[in-house]
Amino acid sequence: MSKDLRPDRDSFFTPLLASQPYANLPDCTSSSQTTQRLNQWLIACTETHPECQTFWETALPKRVLEIQDAYVYLREDTVEKGRYACLSHCWGAQGPSLKLERSTYQQLTSGVTVDQLPKTFGDAVSICISIGIRFLWIDALC
Ligand SMILES: [Zn+2]
Repeated sequence: MSKDLRPDRDSFFTPLLASQPYANLPDCTSSSQTTQRLNQWLIACTETHPECQTFWETALPKRVLEIQDAYVYLREDTVEKGRYACLSHCWGAQGPSLKLERSTYQQLTSGVTVDQLPKTFGDAVSICISIGIRFLWIDALC
């Protein structure tokens, strides 16, 4: 069961947040304070930017990963709408240890555990879970 980590909607428009958005954040990007600040930005974005209102209900890409508990599944041509995050990154010389290929397609559609993913991908999944985003597009897997 996932826990809703979103802050109280009445408490996020603090003067500190508006004037110094990075103030008082620890160096570790996986800290609860960082996650809370990220949630505050997302709430402010979707509640105060008219152009961002569709963020909550948008068509998903042709291929996208669905996060369910400790598993990630490659979904294709889903008609479902929702919100999703994207991870596009420099692969380096050898590329990530897990990529979408003919040989990995079945594995990805059947589901892989988060700890089977390369660390960068696992970190992206963890962030999505912490901010309540169920779908994730990763260039190497989608
Ligand atoms: Zn916005």
